[in-house]
Amino acid sequence: MISVIGANKNFGDFAALDNLSLDIPAGSLTALLGPSGSGKSTLLRSIAGLENPDSGTITIGGKDVTGVPPQKRDIGFVFQHYAAFKHMTVRDNVAFGLKIRKRPKPEIEKKVNELLEIVGLDGFQHRYPAQLSGGQRQRMALARALAVDPQVLLLDEPFGALDAKVREDLRTWLRRLHDEVHVTTVLVTHDQEEALDVADRIAVLNKGRIEQVGTPRDLYDTPANDFVMSFLGPVA
Ligand code: ADP
Ligand code: MG
Repeated sequence: MISVIGANKNFGDFAALDNLSLDIPAGSLTALLGPSGSGKSTLLRSIAGLENPDSGTITIGGKDVTGVPPQKRDIGFVFQHYAAFKHMTVRDNVAFGLKIRKRPKPEIEKKVNELLEIVGLDGFQHRYPAQLSGGQRQRMALARALAVDPQVLLLDEPFGALDAKVREDLRTWLRRLHDEVHVTTVLVTHDQEEALDVADRIAVLNKGRIEQVGTPRDLYDTPANDFVMSFLGPVA
């Protein structure tokens, strides 16, 4: 679904992406896992079109999107600090993308109800973002990103700002959402436990390169090198 081929991105003489190639299969929930500064966000932002690599090619759904602006890439995006429309209810926030696309009202109604139910916010549709907890707000953000049926859902540390208990709860919601909607999802995280728990594939990044790609099981059982082994932590 997503192919990154030989991507390079330099900031000054620092290589944030170093001739990086990665294939992300359709329908997968792939985690980009690595320490701070390893290039995870730069890679995700390049897939989103928010950043343009200096060289390399990116395709989404078989289409070359290199140089194509974000709004023409058929993606949904959720950041750590999500900017909801404060003056709109939860329902209107989720419906926003469909409204600007002038979809018929009954279709909007149906889609919004469906998504709010999946993320457990069906009782909260008339609240405003300020009346939600941090975890509920990120669930709303997920629903909003998915409302327009993007081909790809891109998540950059979406739970990073929340406490451990809420983060764990959100993993369960994300897993559930992914099982229901099957959208190809890329999750940036520096949290090994989160990646091992929620992803079906993990790409381990270090210094702008991929150290290993595999299932959580692959990485845990047969780490490719010392970096992967030490980053995933001692095997229990
Ligand atoms: P990660 O998300 O893994 O923490 P990033 O992709 O955000 O890493 O950043 C990788 C490296 O590139 C970091 O060292 C960061 O300082 C640098 N970098 C990222 N964006 C910029 C930018 N806009 N200008 C200068 N340096 C940047
Ligand atoms: Mg980052």
